Amino acid sequence: MQLMGNTALVTGAGSGLGAATARYFAAQGTRVVLLDFDIDRARMVAGEIGGHAVQADVSDEAAVGRALDEAAGLLEGAPRIVVNCAGVGHAARIVGREGKLSFDTFEKTLKVNLFGTYNVMSHAAKRMLGEDPLETGERGVIVNTASVAFEDGQLGQAAYSASKGGIAAMSLPAAREFAQHGIRVMAIAPGLFRTPMMEGLPEEVTTKITANIPFPPRLGEPDEFALLAGHIASNSFLNGTTIRLDGAVRLPPR
Ligand code: NAD
Repeated sequence: MQLMGNTALVTGAGSGLGAATARYFAAQGTRVVLLDFDIDRARMVAGEIGGHAVQADVSDEAAVGRALDEAAGLLEGAPRIVVNCAGVGHAARIVGREGKLSFDTFEKTLKVNLFGTYNVMSHAAKRMLGEDPLETGERGVIVNTASVAFEDGQLGQAAYSASKGGIAAMSLPAAREFAQHGIRVMAIAPGLFRTPMMEGLPEEVTTKITANIPFPPRLGEPDEFALLAGHIASNSFLNGTTIRLDGAVRLPPR
């Protein structure tokens, strides 16, 4: 699918990987709607790149429906490219100190990361179905963001890994379901990236983290994530799978 002159919706676009992805698509000549819970940050990035910002909590199904309608109005049709980056990274032991269970963390993480991705994917696909196919036969492409924690979750990442495992596992059945309509579904599983999520960590922690990354021995740059999202959108033969983008890192137990 061509990026120039095309349309995209990026969630979590007010920060980190989502913001870099929105900037990348805009630089390729794609018209972009930036969805975020934090509307001020989404507006700031949108202002830089000539995009539009819409607000929604992705875990709220009805709000996502309204945001997708708003996006379709702004883009004069359903976005053809959807990249889901909205997410949270809470950590907690399953059984914490003094036997306290982490149900709340589990529920919140699953709601935002897994249900949020499902909400945006389902509402986007429904609207893509109403569009004519492009010359490649495609109606759209959906790129979801998992994490390497879907395979090598660390201690404290039961909730996060479960949410990202769900995202990775959805790629194939979703791609199979939408195949007859020319809609592709992919996931990216990033390793460790230099975003506000990571920048908050003390330097010695970042040094310890990067020491585990074989090559290149540094955090990934958000632009490198955006480049892969752009490639997935451009390459029509990529479908129904999850790509690790991680400098060969395998997370240690803790
Ligand atoms: P970030 O915190 O910089 O950005 C996340 C954005 O999502 C923020 O703008 C935030 O406002 C938005 N958001 C959060 N909850 C939301 C909700 N309920 N509804 C709408 N928007 C919401 O994070 P990031 O590092 O850019 O991460 C983006 C995605 O990539 C996340 O899904 C994260 O789990 C995943 N990921 C990140 C890394 C990394 O190293 N940074 C690694 C693996 C996976």
